[in-house]
Amino acid sequence: MQIRPFNQPPPTLGNQYDDDRVLRSYLKRALPPDGLREAELSLREMGELAGGELYQMQLADRLNEPTLTQWDAWGNRIDRIEVTPLWQRAERLAAEYGVVAAAYEGKYGRFDRIYQFALAYLFHPSTDVYTCPLAMTDGAARTLLNSGNQELIDRAVTHLTSRDPVQFWTSGQWMTEATGGSDVGLSETIARLNDNEGWQLYGRKWFTSAATSQIALTLARPQGNPPGGKGLALFYLETRGANGKLQNIEILRLKDKLGTRKVPTAELMLSGTPAQPVLGLDNGVRNIVPMLHLTRTWNSVSAVAFMRRGLALARDYARRRVAFGAPLANKPLHVDTLAMLQAESEAAFHLSFYLVELIGRDETGEMNEAQGYILRLLTSIAKVTTGRQAVAIASEVLEAHGGAGYVEDTGLPVLLRDSQVLPIWEGTTNVLSLDALRALGAGEAFAALKAKVSQSVQVARDNRLTAAAGVAAAALTHAESWLQAAMAAGRPALEAGARRFALTLGRALALALLIEQAQWSLDHEQDGRPRAAACRFAQSGVDLIVDVSADDAYALANDNFL
Ligand SMILES: Cc1cc2nc3c(=O)[nH]c(=O)nc-3n(C[C@H](O)[C@H](O)[C@H](O)COP(=O)(O)OP(=O)(O)OC[C@H]3O[C@@H](n4cnc5c(N)ncnc54)[C@H](O)[C@@H]3O)c2cc1C
Repeated sequence: MQIRPFNQPPPTLGNQYDDDRVLRSYLKRALPPDGLREAELSLREMGELAGGELYQMQLADRLNEPTLTQWDAWGNRIDRIEVTPLWQRAERLAAEYGVVAAAYEGKYGRFDRIYQFALAYLFHPSTDVYTCPLAMTDGAARTLLNSGNQELIDRAVTHLTSRDPVQFWTSGQWMTEATGGSDVGLSETIARLNDNEGWQLYGRKWFTSAATSQIALTLARPQGNPPGGKGLALFYLETRGANGKLQNIEILRLKDKLGTRKVPTAELMLSGTPAQPVLGLDNGVRNIVPMLHLTRTWNSVSAVAFMRRGLALARDYARRRVAFGAPLANKPLHVDTLAMLQAESEAAFHLSFYLVELIGRDETGEMNEAQGYILRLLTSIAKVTTGRQAVAIASEVLEAHGGAGYVEDTGLPVLLRDSQVLPIWEGTTNVLSLDALRALGAGEAFAALKAKVSQSVQVARDNRLTAAAGVAAAALTHAESWLQAAMAAGRPALEAGARRFALTLGRALALALLIEQAQWSLDHEQDGRPRAAACRFAQSGVDLIVDVSADDAYALANDNFL
């Protein structure tokens, strides 16, 4: 049999900065020109690494996983985790490029965060979720700085924000116990003040992803404290002592996970681990909030980065793969499918980077009151919205590659598996939707969000954009009337609709931000692509609020006779 020329060429990636029209156009609008000129140098380098060396390494590294060695040959407990070669390289590069540090250097003022998250966005999809420890490292640095605990700041923050790979430390966030990740107030870990030893922690941490980190911020209940979240305190610990050994920490096992398999997520036993209170001996859940805000933001940016990666591959493949006599890129239905994915990911991008912008303002004291309300609400709704989009898009991206998308050694299936964690960790969709309700406060946050949406859509002068603007405004009006009715109906009605409400806010704001960018692109770049994305996104289900019957829901959820 003669072998014909092969028509399933693998998708390839170019420089992931140069090729990213959405990122580049946004940065042109968001950053001062001088800052952009300078920032572009490293962003372009990172784009080259992401599309080149790191991507190739990722494909070659596919079957490697972290290993846990619990005992040495002589029966000593050592609990050593070896991470994969790509993770080792990623750790070095993350330090050198300042993927955490860039946020703390004050180089571009409130734009530091945009620069840092642009780096993270490029870095993320080629480094097998090494952004997980980076997110927690960033969160730990911010939490310690906010705590005002000078001793810990002096001890740790310089390491967490170092660009020197030898000095660079990462941090874990050890919250989840078998009793709960969402309902963390049930935590059972106890802190005891022992004579001569200071505080020591005793308990079992059920999910700890940065198991190789030098430090962790964790929750424990000082002995005698009351139950619930308020009785927990926030503690700082160093995983290893001066002798290099784990400090009364046993790594019980690594989790056998669906995705993020390069992340060494471990179950830990703490049996007298030395720790220091970060900020008092109670209110630990409240005191760790700065960490959660940042890890959720990293989650949103990672979601967008995965969407972008999937699309880059699917778009390239569509140009190469010939079926029914033409490249897929010429097939109207395939084109329509990719267009839908692009619109979703473009909207998600602007939602996430608006959140990033607000964090930059917050950290430099340039945020007004209304932006403060939006920020509190946005960490939850951006994560909820983008996490779900990432999973849906990854699934479509696999399908866009046909059978190849389902075959492991194409390197494609991992996109779906790794995306699936995004709506789960750092707060599930439901838990964060309920958090969004809490963030509404006495209504100030909703009013601020509504004002922001109307301000963004008001810039639309183009006719097609004005029509899309109407969709965003109408979604918020509907959300507002639903909220009033649900509050009048009582807590169960409010909770039952919280997910649809949060997603509607997220999608309406994403549309408004996309419209703002689209008008700017028409005016400054004569580029109609963001407008096309805005119009398409406006037709893709922005207002998700519907009236449902609670009785029907109970019957359906429990399969009860009705
Ligand atoms: C790969 C991975 C790595 C992780 N790494 C870490 C880590 O490093 N550190 C750490 O602390 N944790 C970590 N976690 C834990 C993670 O944050 C929690 O698993 C997550 O927050 C969910 O908590 P849970 O497992 O207790 O789920 P549950 O709270 O039991 O949730 C189960 C379901 O119930 C829903 N639900 C819960 N409460 C409500 C409610 N009130 N109303 C409606 N629905 C509700 C949820 O949405 C979910 O669908 C990790 C998890 C994974 C998967």
